[in-house]
Amino acid sequence: MADADLLIKNARVVRPDDPSTDDPAAVDIAVSGGVVTAVGPNLPVARADRVLDADGLLAFPGVIDAHQHWGIYQDLAADTDSESRACAQGGVTTALTYMRTGRYYLNRGGAYRDFVPEVLDRMAGRAFVDHALHLAPMTTEHIAEIPSLIKEFGVISFKIFMFYGGHGLHGRSADQADFLMIPATERYDLAHFEFVMRGIQHARKRFGPGLSLSLHCETAEIMAAYTALVEQDPTLTGLRAYSASRPPHSEGLAITMASYLAHETGLANINLLHLSSAKAVAAALTMAKAFPQVDFRREVTIGHLLADVDTAHGIGGKVNPPLRERPDVEALWRHLLAGEIDWVVSDHACCRDEQKFGPDRDDVFAAKSGFGGAEYLLPGLVGEGRKRGLPLSRVAALTAWNPARRYGLRGKGTIAAGFDADIVLVDPDARWTVRATDSESAQEYTPFEGFEMTARVTDVFLRGHRIFGDGRVQGDPRGRYLRRDPA
Ligand SMILES: [Zn+2]
Repeated sequence: MADADLLIKNARVVRPDDPSTDDPAAVDIAVSGGVVTAVGPNLPVARADRVLDADGLLAFPGVIDAHQHWGIYQDLAADTDSESRACAQGGVTTALTYMRTGRYYLNRGGAYRDFVPEVLDRMAGRAFVDHALHLAPMTTEHIAEIPSLIKEFGVISFKIFMFYGGHGLHGRSADQADFLMIPATERYDLAHFEFVMRGIQHARKRFGPGLSLSLHCETAEIMAAYTALVEQDPTLTGLRAYSASRPPHSEGLAITMASYLAHETGLANINLLHLSSAKAVAAALTMAKAFPQVDFRREVTIGHLLADVDTAHGIGGKVNPPLRERPDVEALWRHLLAGEIDWVVSDHACCRDEQKFGPDRDDVFAAKSGFGGAEYLLPGLVGEGRKRGLPLSRVAALTAWNPARRYGLRGKGTIAAGFDADIVLVDPDARWTVRATDSESAQEYTPFEGFEMTARVTDVFLRGHRIFGDGRVQGDPRGRYLRRDPA
């Protein structure tokens, strides 16, 4: 009989893509040294330092939120603290956060060999959850740095923001001249994206097949033209106007170009981020058929699944790509239920009130893009998914197993012997109403305000340490920076 650091009794463990756990029986989970050592009924544990009776609550693997933006609008150190608390509150035990040079974040350009140590330094000792970096090669120098980013910092996933070179981050509100902070001799355009892909593919041959490239797919020229049209149309306001200014075919076109470039460059691992519309998913599925040698993954956000242009409480819901009309939301759910979406993320980007809104609080084009939502990812997907027939085992795949495998998080993604004891207890019958004031995030508002949740995160464990329980974040920040291996 073994000892354990932690014994969780009577937990109904949900396993990724294991339909036998869609209505799971209660079992025990034993944890030692931060790792799950056994899962089963009535585990014979001689002595446990801590015992917690889960009393029949569901146990999900800790959420791997594969798309966040720590430090985009406020100091990275402060953001790491407050936004990782919001992660803990929502059952997110690993956050993969996108980082780049240029305006926002650290507000500087330069080489990643100088930039990344500063990023890691500002995050160190402040995160309540484990975390890793995706990096965006913005310059020719960054492409040349890819091998050293893999070796020195364990970064194996990269990003392209397809519209930045022509449209900035916020459209009209962007100070585009110095937005990218790249050398005057360079352009952030399709040719650059091709060479990013060639750089990653070159590194894949040398270091291993685990490297992947994520793309934010929107087309600058379409958005610039439609923004001009929409601004002259007095019948369109708020989020409805913003969605019309960045129409779904702008996503479809960018997906098509990105996929052809992946085919041309032989880069096999492509992640199509935050697909927001029926046209975007249709384009992504068409490209998967056209280029079967490319291993595509398709991502959606909880924001695009829970909110539309009418429910998001005004322009606090401004985000790229935009929240859409209801038919697009329903299309995303259909594709999710059909197994055509690989993971669900928050795209968490804390944007405080004073940053979010322009001088005219109702001018959507003057507002900043992005909002937080890690707190609502798992409860929102469990609750809303249940109403729509999404099996629990599929939720575990979409929020943990699938992103863990794609992004090289070997010890994470399920509750099983040998895996990190990242565990979220969920009450699937608890009803509560989203209030921004109840969130651990520094963001004062939320597009989910008033949403009626039908599932609640009650306890969260990170490598066996209880980081959330009794309605609040627990203990000191124990989150680790995760170096990843491309092999
Ligand atoms: Zn994002």
